[in-house]
Amino acid sequence: MPKDAFNREIDYLRISVTDRCNLRCVYCMPLEGLRFLPNAEFLTPAEIETVVRAAVAIGFRKFRLTGGEPTLRLDLLEIIERLAAIEGVGELALTTNALLLDKLAIPLRTAGLSRVNVHLDSLNPATVERQMRWGSFARAWQGIAAAEAAGLTPIKLNSVVTAGYNEADVIDLARLTVEREWHVRFIELMPLGGGECATVSIKRYVSNIETRGRIEAALGPLAELESNNPSDEARNFKLAGARGVIGFISPVSEPYCGTCNRMRLTADGKFHLCLLNDDEMDVRKALRTNGGIEAVKRILARAVENKPTGHHLLEGRSTRERSMYQIGG
Ligand code: SAM
Repeated sequence: MPKDAFNREIDYLRISVTDRCNLRCVYCMPLEGLRFLPNAEFLTPAEIETVVRAAVAIGFRKFRLTGGEPTLRLDLLEIIERLAAIEGVGELALTTNALLLDKLAIPLRTAGLSRVNVHLDSLNPATVERQMRWGSFARAWQGIAAAEAAGLTPIKLNSVVTAGYNEADVIDLARLTVEREWHVRFIELMPLGGGECATVSIKRYVSNIETRGRIEAALGPLAELESNNPSDEARNFKLAGARGVIGFISPVSEPYCGTCNRMRLTADGKFHLCLLNDDEMDVRKALRTNGGIEAVKRILARAVENKPTGHHLLEGRSTRERSMYQIGG
């Protein structure tokens, strides 16, 4: 398994397949002024396959497709089929807003996807409309049901807690775990990209200390679960008698850089070395000049060696060049 300069084992590659999205969450994408990559800049399914073959060859085992909204990519099923067929790909998951899962869940499962993480900020349709702006709660909920029926489990729901929008809705989300074997996880806002959404992320930040307090006040004490995965970015808990798990992902109030095991690949073929830094290494040029798998292995190994640690979230700073939808959350 590749180790970085801080002795962290890096075996998890998060692959963004597009920067387009069918939502405009208030902290992620502005309503105006967006510029998307031309299609020719996206890595093709064959190029993504080469990167994953190289990653497996140097010890990567976990893979996740993300975006933007990955289900908007018309060749998503081909990408999944290609990656699922690679020996050594241990887990292949997808992060999605579920809006298109109603029709896609079964084909995704058939193509070889293991499971999905679904981003849904609230169970209240009015909050979803205000905070996520496009799409609807009903469509997302239908998509989640389809994913569960298709066996893309365990379902993990991610909610980004945003002051003035959904901070009170965390209670209903947490309550889902009483009856369901789902993981419901609360994510702290991070400023990315330096634009209007970064400002929203700073102004509307809610710490998970506060979110946990709100949940415990309404639903009772949370018991912490022992982790069997040291790289899990969430600290996990259970309500008494609950079937599911409540997780807190707290990059600001409780940073977890020390156990980070991730490398990221952007849709336009750059290894993005750390979510909260701008450092990148281009791999697309090597792919498009017949560099082949050996060249990709060398670039990825160098990317791992150069992975930084630490961030400046507490000072309200992170990336300036790219926002979350351009990196792949
Ligand atoms: N479209 C997919 C989705 O909705 O999950 C995948 C991409 S989206 C960028 C991945 C995750 O990043 C979502 O859970 C989203 O809420 C989260 N996210 C976006 N901007 C964020 C921010 N500023 N701080 C924390 N999480 C953010």
